[in-house]
Amino acid sequence: MLSEKERKLLSLPTPCYVIDEAALCRNLAILQNVERQTGCHILLAQKAFSAYHVYPLIAQYLSGTTASGLFEARLAHEEMPDRQVHVYAPAYKDEDFEQLLPICDHIVFNSFSQWKHFRPKAQQHPAVSFGLRINPEYSEIETDIYNPCFEGSRLGITLDNFEEDELDGISGLHFHTLCEQGADTLERTLAVVEEKFGRYLSRMKWLNFGGGHHITKPDYDIPTLVRCIRRFQDRYGLDIYLEPGEAVAINAGYLVCSVLDTLKNGRDLAIVDTSAACHMPDVLEMPYRPIIIGAEEAEVLPYTYRLGAPTCLAGDVIGDYSFDRPLSVGDKLIFTDMAMYSMVKNNTFNGMPLPSIYLMTTDGDLRLLKAFGYEDFKRRL
Ligand SMILES: *Cc1c(COP(=O)(O)O)cnc(C)c1O
Repeated sequence: MLSEKERKLLSLPTPCYVIDEAALCRNLAILQNVERQTGCHILLAQKAFSAYHVYPLIAQYLSGTTASGLFEARLAHEEMPDRQVHVYAPAYKDEDFEQLLPICDHIVFNSFSQWKHFRPKAQQHPAVSFGLRINPEYSEIETDIYNPCFEGSRLGITLDNFEEDELDGISGLHFHTLCEQGADTLERTLAVVEEKFGRYLSRMKWLNFGGGHHITKPDYDIPTLVRCIRRFQDRYGLDIYLEPGEAVAINAGYLVCSVLDTLKNGRDLAIVDTSAACHMPDVLEMPYRPIIIGAEEAEVLPYTYRLGAPTCLAGDVIGDYSFDRPLSVGDKLIFTDMAMYSMVKNNTFNGMPLPSIYLMTTDGDLRLLKAFGYEDFKRRL
């Protein structure tokens, strides 16, 4: 039996993303609760989710946003104007930095050379708070592509490279070493941060714990997070910032697609009008397996299919799924957890159309936010 919500999702033209406002609000309320309990500030990491149509909603819950560079900072400044805008980038261009200064509350540098290069400009902007990203060289992330502490990493300043005589004008430190991790990992990371950089913390106004906190997952240990935050507030008098991306938008959206063809090559195959490479690149990069409503792992239900894209990339395979009935051309499938790291990573490889973007409001209404066409493909080339 289809739920009312599923029925609505299946009525949409495909491919499309649907942002689930109610689910987003549930995540935001959990995050806001952490802010209220501790007085810390939580920022949306826009690189995970930049659907600015819902920024006014997010602004009701969070302290602001963080950006990976000028474009995201501008987007936040324009679309969430009454909230803080933070930015961190591994390196800034001179012309970008000029534009960041008037629109950012915090600017975080990745090296002392960048800090020294921009310091004369920075000193003319007393309204902006400047910080440094440190690399505590401690991370429990096992995949190198997501581990900013792997050997030779360019992300953050190690203790060996820390120039304690150059801290004049620096108000905060920033670390980002977590990825989909719990408060226990945060606690162990903070112990290392404190051991290595503790003597600088009392000279700072703020400490940014970065992102990667899986705060809105059901098993996340919020009391431990709260304890970690309070400890650094109490011991060093610091303002604490967290900048999750995933935790804001996790499980807050869908990707709906249609079956275009079914075929056989030793196994049952289905081609759908969406692509892992273009519309959900994390399926190939992470890699991870999205859930399809009503489907199971391969061979659990009677009919198993390998789902693939209508692109020429042999590896553009979403995965193997089983269904309780054979798939037919025109059937629609709903992938879950498609709000984060999806729309922001879209591309038009193979001339694939970009999925349109809908919002399902808390009332259950569907609003088309964006539709794309041939011109969007052509304009980029
Ligand atoms: C990616 C990133 C984030 C957000 O990470 P999530 O895993 O989405 O929470 C925050 N800060 C920095 C510096 C990042 O690179």
